[in-house]
Amino acid sequence: MEPELKVYLDRLQGGKTEIIDLTLSSTFMDVDEADLKFNDRVIIKGKAYLANDHLVIHLKVETKVSIPCSVCNKMVLIPIRVPEFYHTEDLEEVKGRVYYYANPLREAILLEVPPFGECLGGCAERKELEKYKPSEGNTDSVQFPFADLT
Ligand SMILES: [Zn+2]
Repeated sequence: MEPELKVYLDRLQGGKTEIIDLTLSSTFMDVDEADLKFNDRVIIKGKAYLANDHLVIHLKVETKVSIPCSVCNKMVLIPIRVPEFYHTEDLEEVKGRVYYYANPLREAILLEVPPFGECLGGCAERKELEKYKPSEGNTDSVQFPFADLT
């Protein structure tokens, strides 16, 4: 459990807002997969406050994730942003007057991981692959299975 990702309810009593401004290592992401790695720091900025009988946590998050390039399979570092992390928690559900928000934050970050990566500026091997595609004026050798249907 990441010790810094917590909010003390007692500090928010009387309409107080807690400013959250953290730069953490990504160990709380707790991901250890061959094709998904968090090695970069995680920048978390925002605030926590009470609204009626709920705790509200409103954050912006930035980090980077390594996923494989879908063309050449090399690991690529991709920036990840969670522009609006907005989490509410019923105060009655918060045990011990301290709320740990690592779990919902981790889920929000994972949702922003793109399904495919590609080397920055376009994969160099994509150009290699294009050599093997038929060029214009050389379509005779290409079969169009549905050409007869028109
Ligand atoms: Zn690539």
